[in-house]
Amino acid sequence: MAWRRWWPLAAWLGLAGLVAVWFTVSALAERGRALREVEVRAATLAEVTVENVHRLIEGADTALIAVSVMVGPTPDWGVLSRDPILWQAMHTMGAALSAAPRLLAIDQDGVVRVHGEIFKITPGSVADRDYFRSHRDDPSALPHLGVPLIGRFFHESVLPYSRRLSRADGSFGGVVLATLPPQAFMGLFASMRAEDGSFFALRRGDGTLLVRYPAMDQILGTRIDNNKAFPALVDHRPEGVEVVDSPVDGVRRMVAFKRLDRYDLTMIVGLPIQEGLAPWRRQTRRMAAVVGSGLVVLTALLVLLLQRRHAEIAVQTRLKASEENLRQAQAVARLGYYVFDMVADRWESSPILDDIFGIESAFPRSAGGWLDLVAPPQRPEMEDYLRGIIAGEHDFEREYPIIRPSDGQMRWVAGVGKVERDPDGRPLRMVGTIQDITERKRDHQALQEKAAELSRSNEELEQFAYVASHDLREPLRMVSSYVDLLGRRYGDRLDADAREFIAFAKDGATRMDRLVLDLLEYSRIGRITRPMVAVPLGTVFDRVTRALQAKIDEAGARLVVPSPLPSVLGDGDELVRLFLNLIGNAVKYRAADRSPVVTVTAERRDMVWTVTVADNGIGIEPQYFDRVFLIFQRLHKRGEYEGTGIGLAICKKIAEHHGGRIWLDSTPGQGSAFHVALPGID
Ligand code: ADP
Repeated sequence: MAWRRWWPLAAWLGLAGLVAVWFTVSALAERGRALREVEVRAATLAEVTVENVHRLIEGADTALIAVSVMVGPTPDWGVLSRDPILWQAMHTMGAALSAAPRLLAIDQDGVVRVHGEIFKITPGSVADRDYFRSHRDDPSALPHLGVPLIGRFFHESVLPYSRRLSRADGSFGGVVLATLPPQAFMGLFASMRAEDGSFFALRRGDGTLLVRYPAMDQILGTRIDNNKAFPALVDHRPEGVEVVDSPVDGVRRMVAFKRLDRYDLTMIVGLPIQEGLAPWRRQTRRMAAVVGSGLVVLTALLVLLLQRRHAEIAVQTRLKASEENLRQAQAVARLGYYVFDMVADRWESSPILDDIFGIESAFPRSAGGWLDLVAPPQRPEMEDYLRGIIAGEHDFEREYPIIRPSDGQMRWVAGVGKVERDPDGRPLRMVGTIQDITERKRDHQALQEKAAELSRSNEELEQFAYVASHDLREPLRMVSSYVDLLGRRYGDRLDADAREFIAFAKDGATRMDRLVLDLLEYSRIGRITRPMVAVPLGTVFDRVTRALQAKIDEAGARLVVPSPLPSVLGDGDELVRLFLNLIGNAVKYRAADRSPVVTVTAERRDMVWTVTVADNGIGIEPQYFDRVFLIFQRLHKRGEYEGTGIGLAICKKIAEHHGGRIWLDSTPGQGSAFHVALPGID
C-alpha cells in the first residue's frame, strides 16, 4: 500500500502537531504571565499614585486643621478677619504646601472672612456650594473633596477641599477651605509616565469623578455607575485589580483601584491591555514565524526526501524485476554475458558464460586466457579478429569453436560484443554475450549435408530422366517408322483387324513420343540456368496469345489481359511456357454450355506479384487442388480431353525455379483461378 510508505510523514505531522500544541500552550502561559505583569504594574502604579495623592491632600488637610485650631471654637469673625497672625499663617502654609492651595476661612453663613492671599477679595458667599452645604447640613461629614469648579474669587479651576468648623457646642461655625489646583494632580499623574491609553482617575466614595488624566473634562463631576463601569470596584474592598472594558472609550484595560479611606476617595489606574500585551504579541509572532516556517521547511524537506526515497525504491524494484527477468531469459536462452575491460585486460563473466566456457573462477580472464579457449585451428584467425577489434575496425560478432577446460569437449559458441571507446577512438571496454550454438551448428551441418545429398540425387534423377527420355525417342522413332512402313507396304494385304492394330501401335508410339517430349521438357526446366532478368509480363502474354490464337478462335474464347502489366524477375521463355499451359488449360477445360472467358489479373504485395489466370470452365473439385500439380496426374479419361498430365507439373517447377509458387482455387462447374506468385522488381 502506497500510504504505508508515507508513515514517516504522518509521524512527523503528528510531531509537528504536538509542537504546535506545545507552542500554543506556552504562548498562552506567556500571555498569562504578561497579563500578570500588567496587573502588577497597574497595582503598583495605583499604590504609588495613592501615596502621592495622599501626600497632596494630607498637606492641605494639615493646613486646614491648623487654621481651624487658630479660628477656635468660638470664632469672632470680625476679629479674625483682621488678625495678621492668622492671615500670615494661612498665607505661609498655602505657599509652603507642594500643591500650593489657597486657604480660605468661611463663616457659618457662607461668607469668606479670611484668606491667605496678599490682595483683597470682594467678600462673597459660597453658601450655595456643595461642600458648604454638606458641612452645614451634616455635622459628621468627613473632610470633603469637591467636584472641580471655577473659583468665585480667583476665577480659576479648583478642587475644593474643605473641613467643618464646629463650635464648642457642636453647632456649625463655618468651613475652612483649601482650593487645590487640578494641575497638581495632573502633574502627579503625568509624572507616572504610564503607557499610551492609560488613565488615572480620582473618584469620590459616592462615585463622582473628580480628576482624570488624561483630561476628559466632560465626564468630570459625573457619577460613574460602579456596577456598570467597574463591577469589581465595590466599596467594601480597599484595593484590587480587574480587567474592565471602559464604558467611556471602549478600551479593555487592567484597572487597579486603591482607596484612601480617610478622605473617602478611590484612586483608579487603568493600563490598556493591548499595549501591555504588545511585547508578548511581538515575541509570540516572532516565535510563531520561526517555529511555523521551521515546521513548513522541515515538512517540505521530509516530503522531498520521502519522494526521492520512494522514487529510488520504485526504480530499484523495477531494476530488480528486470534484472531477474533478464537473468531468467538468459538462463532459458543459455546466454552468458561478459564485460571486458580492454584497458586493464580483464573480463568478468556471468555464471552461465562460465558454464558455457567450462571455466572456474580461478581461470585467467584476460584476452590471452580467452584465446586459449578457442579451438587451436581457429586460434590464429580469432587472434587476428581480436586485433581488428582493438584497432577499431569492427565490433565482435563471430561464431567460433572452443575447447572447454572442464571436460575437454569442443563446443561452438556465438559471440557478440559492442566496444565502447574514448573520444580518441581507443577501446575502453567491450560488453557482450556468448551463446552455446553447438546443437544448432550440428543441426545446420546435418541439414546442409542433407540438402547437398538431395540436390545431388535430384541432379542424378534429372540427368537420368533427360538421358532416358532423350535416348528413348530413338527406339521409339524406329518403332513408329517401321509400323508406318508396315502399314504402307503391307496395308493392302492385311485384313481390317490387322490394319486397326497397326493404327493402335502407331497411336501408342505417337503418344509415347509426346510423353517423352513432355518429360524431356520437364527435366530441362532449371537445368539450363540463365540469369534472371526483368521480364515484362505484357510481352509474355503477347507471345502466349499469339501461340494460342488458333485454339482461342476455335473455341470462341475471350481472353482479357490488362494493360499495362508489370515486369517480374525471371526467365522469359519459362514464363511463356507457364502461362501458355495455364491459358491453354483454361480454354481446353471450358464448359460446354458457355463460351469461355479467360481473365488475367496482377496484384502486388510488397515485393511479390501475384498473377491470376481465371476461367469460367468446368472447375476442379477441392480434393484435387494439390494433385493436379503432380506429374502425369489427370482428372479425365484420355478420350475426353487430350493431354499428358504434365502441364501443371511444369508450371509448378517453373514457379518454384523463380522462387515463387503456384496454387489454385476453384468452384466445380463455375470455373477455376490459378495464382502464380513471382518476384517483383523495384
Ligand atoms: P493435361 O495435359 O491433362 O491438361 P495438366 O497438368 O495441364 O494436364 O492438368 C492436369 C489436370 O488438371 C487436367 O487433366 C485437368 O483435369 C485439370 N485441369 C487443369 N487445368 C484446368 C482448368 N483450367 N479447369 C479445369 N480443370 C483443369
